[in-house]
This record gives sequence, C-alpha cells and structure tokens, in this order.
Amino acid sequence: MTEAPPTRVVIVGGGTAGWMAAAALARFLGPTGAIRLVESDEIGTVGVGEATIPQIRLFNEGLGIDEDRFLRECQGTFKLGIEFVGWGLRSAADRYTHAFGSVGRPLGLLPFHHYWLRHRAAGGVTDLWAASAGARAARENRFARPADGPNKPSSGVSYAFHFDASLYAAFLRRYAEARGVRRTEGRVSHVETRREDGFVESVALDDGERVAGDLFVDCTGFRGLLIEGALRAGYDDWSRWLPCDRAMAVPTASPPGPLAPYTRATAREAGWQWRIPLQHRVGNGLVYSSRHLRDDRAADLLLANLDGEPLADPRPLRFTTGRRREAWRGNVVALGLAAGFMEPLESTSIHLIQTGIARLLQFFPGREGIAAADRAEFNRQSEGEWTAIRDFLILHYHATERPEPFWRDIARAPIPDTLAAKLELFRGNGRLVRREDELFTEVGWLQVMVGQGVEPRGHHPLADVPTPAQLDEFVRLCAAHAGQVAGAMPDHRAYLAHHCAAAPAPFARAS
Ligand SMILES: Cc1cc2nc3c(=O)[nH]c(=O)nc-3n(C[C@H](O)[C@H](O)[C@H](O)COP(=O)(O)OP(=O)(O)OC[C@H]3O[C@@H](n4cnc5c(N)ncnc54)[C@H](O)[C@@H]3O)c2cc1C
Repeated sequence: MTEAPPTRVVIVGGGTAGWMAAAALARFLGPTGAIRLVESDEIGTVGVGEATIPQIRLFNEGLGIDEDRFLRECQGTFKLGIEFVGWGLRSAADRYTHAFGSVGRPLGLLPFHHYWLRHRAAGGVTDLWAASAGARAARENRFARPADGPNKPSSGVSYAFHFDASLYAAFLRRYAEARGVRRTEGRVSHVETRREDGFVESVALDDGERVAGDLFVDCTGFRGLLIEGALRAGYDDWSRWLPCDRAMAVPTASPPGPLAPYTRATAREAGWQWRIPLQHRVGNGLVYSSRHLRDDRAADLLLANLDGEPLADPRPLRFTTGRRREAWRGNVVALGLAAGFMEPLESTSIHLIQTGIARLLQFFPGREGIAAADRAEFNRQSEGEWTAIRDFLILHYHATERPEPFWRDIARAPIPDTLAAKLELFRGNGRLVRREDELFTEVGWLQVMVGQGVEPRGHHPLADVPTPAQLDEFVRLCAAHAGQVAGAMPDHRAYLAHHCAAAPAPFARAS
C-alpha cells in the first residue's frame, strides 16, 4: 500500500496572517502537510496591529510558545482591557473600561449585573467597574498574571497583550521554518486556475517560478490576490454602519512613568484615536471617516494629541470595512486582511486570523479532496462570527450623545436587526443573550452598553429575592474582592521588568 501524498499547502503572504497560519499548520498538520509560504519583501506588510484579546494566549499555548520569551522578543506588554474616553459624552470626563474577565460574580441563577441594576435603582452608588478586578488594576497601572487554581476563588482577571506585530511575524517565521515550512521570496504576478472547476493550480512569480498546490491560503492583505483577484469571492461592504475608511498611524517614544496595562480609545470629532503602549514605543493612530475629516487635518489632530515625541511621520492607511462574502472559495481560504477588515476598536483582527486558522484545521481536507459541505460550514461559521463583532462595534457608535456631524450621522443611521434585538432585550430588563458563534461575552456587551449610557428600564425579577441588606452586602463583597485582587498586584512596569523585559530596541526612530 502506498501512502497518500501530503496536501500541498501554499500560503501567499507573510504578514501576521501568513506567519500565524504557517506556524499553526506546521505545528498541527505534521507530515500530512507540505507547507510553502510565498512573500514579497518589495510589497511589504500593512505594519500595524498591536493590540489583542485574551484568546491569543490559547494560540501561543497551542504552539507551545513560552509567554515570557514571546513578550521579550516582541516588545510586548500586558493588556487588561480597553479604556474608552469620550464615547458617550455625558460629561467631559466621560470614560469607561471594557475590561477582560468578570464583573462581580453570579448569585443563584443570575449574573451580577441584575443585582447591581437593582442596587443602583434603589440609590446605590457603587460603580459597575468597582466589581471588576481587571478594570481596577488597569486604572492603577498594576498587573500580575492571575494565580487562579482549582481550589481558589477565581480572581476574575483575564489578560491579553500589546506587541509589535512585525516582531511577532518574525518570531513565528523562525518557529515555522524550524518546523519545515519553506519560504520563497518573490512577487506573485499571476494566479493560474484550472479550467474544469476554477480551482487555483499554481501561482507564478516574477522570476518565472511556478508554485503549485492543493490548498492555497490567501494572506495577501487588503488586495486579496487569490480570493478576490482570481476567484472573485465578492465583498460585503459594511461602511453604511461603520463609515471610518482611513487611519493615520504614528509611533511615539515611551514616556517615563507608569506603563498602562490597557489600550486607550479616545473619541475624536470624526473618529477615534488609539494608544497602545509597548516596551520600546507607544503605538498611536487615528481612525476616521474621509467624508468628515480631511487627511491633512487628521494628521494635525493626531500629532496634536500625542503624549510623547513622534518617532516617524504619520502613515496613512485606507480600508473599506466589511468581509469577503466567501472566505473559502474553491481551494482558496482567505485569512487576515484578505478575508475582510473591521476597525481595531475592539482589537479583533488578529483574533479573526486565529479563529480562521482554527476553523481551517477543523475542516482541513482529507484524501478525497475538499468537500463542499465543509467549505459551506466554514463560511457559515465565519459569517456568524464576523457579523456579531460588527454589531458590537456599531454599538459603540450608535449609543452616543456626541454632537459632531460624524457622530450624529452614525447614531441616526438604521442599525442591523441583530443589534436592534440585543438593545431591546437590554433596555427592557437588562438581559444579555449570547449566540453560540459570538466572540464577545455577556460581560463584554454589558460594559459597553452601560459605558455608552444604554439604560435598562428594570432588572430580572429574581434579583428582587435578596433583602435590601443582603443586596447591599453582596454588592459590597463583590467590590471588596475586586479591590483586594487589584490591590495585591504589583506595578505593571515592575512586573514586566522582573519577568519579561525586552532587550533595548536598536533604533529609537521607526523607519
Ligand atoms: C489601522 C489599522 C490598525 C490595526 N490595529 C490592529 C490591532 O490593534 N489589533 C489587531 O488585532 N489587528 C489590527 N489591525 C489588523 C492587522 O494589522 C492585520 O490583521 C494583520 O496585520 C494581518 O495583516 P495581513 O497579514 O493579513 O496582511 P499584510 O500585513 O498586508 O501582509 C500581506 C502579505 O502579503 C504579501 N503579498 C501581497 N501581495 C503579494 C504578491 N503579489 N506576491 C507576493 N506576496 C504578496 C506581502 O508581501 C505581505 O507579506 C489593524 C489594521 C489597520 C489597518
């Protein structure tokens, strides 16, 4: 009996998506896959993307990557959540956190927030985030990895990272090449498809080399060279809901003093500004709508709102929010920007690469080739995941009282029915329901709903069971626990220095 030949996988593109795919496929396919990656140094990568959500830890763990080493090599810092400044605008100091981890703890059948809503309605002044250890630690610039264990009460803390995405891609490249991935440097000039079924047969490089494969992973960035250029998968444009279409990015020198363990997203007149602290620099950028703000004004606005010396000129980027209609078409699976783009408001792009890879592994074709049912299920799951994130992002823009034309235009625009249904449930009795394919948990939605000023009319009737004194005590205990957990954490900068300090960056100025 002869062995079936390994599936020839060709990854086109070597940005974060390409090298994440290469590393994971090399790790999990073993000898059933022969993996090649083609990338063009001349074209380069998008070069932004620094903030993540906690699921990235599962990806690194799956690859067996040591977390401290990864943070050292990628200039990484810890992230407890995102601070939103000026989004609802009920007052100039308006800010809230979407912290990872839990807020309070459940009691009986109900999550904490129903008791908190009742407590607040009865005059209680405890802030929702007083019961979140992550939000409290973030506010005080503290961090320690939670030492949760089977016999201990949960700390309620979860964390992600900020890191330099180009260093991460280089880190994963070393990992993938050590596990047999063959890299070819060269620009793909032509994609060759089979007449009978339209499958991609090979990609042709500028120097005439042809790279043939059974399965192609399109990681070519916004252009989607294979999935769109060759296979015309189509694109759902979501800019009627999320009209930002440009970004300006600039790194700055790290200011001395406290190192924030969170991303900051500050609302501006026609978009918002990110601030992502790394070990060797701070990543900053303005995401905006070109219909509402000119590029030169966007650059001025960004430069006027930095808290450190710029290390480069602002770099412009253009995008159209939306997703590829079929992320898997024929024998091409699109990952990363080739699969679509949503602004980095909740740091979801790298996560969507991760889940795309996980899904590809789940439906990886066997000897009999690609099954249409597998491909359809892959696309169905991708759509569910993307649309739920889209709705979550729209919520930030929809529920706001900001007066500028950009904000009024979005707040007044119709919203998807799926989001309208979520809002109606929450506005009634504070109910939050999570579909099976949704990324963000009820506690994520809760924080953004409350933070943006969405007010429920009531709470779940079961929250009326405790006596007022019992209710007071419960809310007080939840807040006390969160305070204790946060208070026991050391300073974030000190923790990093102790566990995972990176070597000093060779150049202060970014090119
Ligand atoms: C403004 C902005 C901010 C962002 N912030 C975040 C964030 O905070 N968190 C987050 O998770 N994500 C963020 N993202 C998204 C993140 O940058 C991307 O998801 C991630 O970098 C993956 O990009 P990619 O690998 O798909 O594409 P790219 O980085 O564009 O890589 C494309 C690759 O394809 C290759 N290529 C293209 N054409 C050819 C060809 N013809 N021949 C050969 N090779 C080719 C290129 O050489 C390159 O290697 C942000 C994106 C933008 C635009």
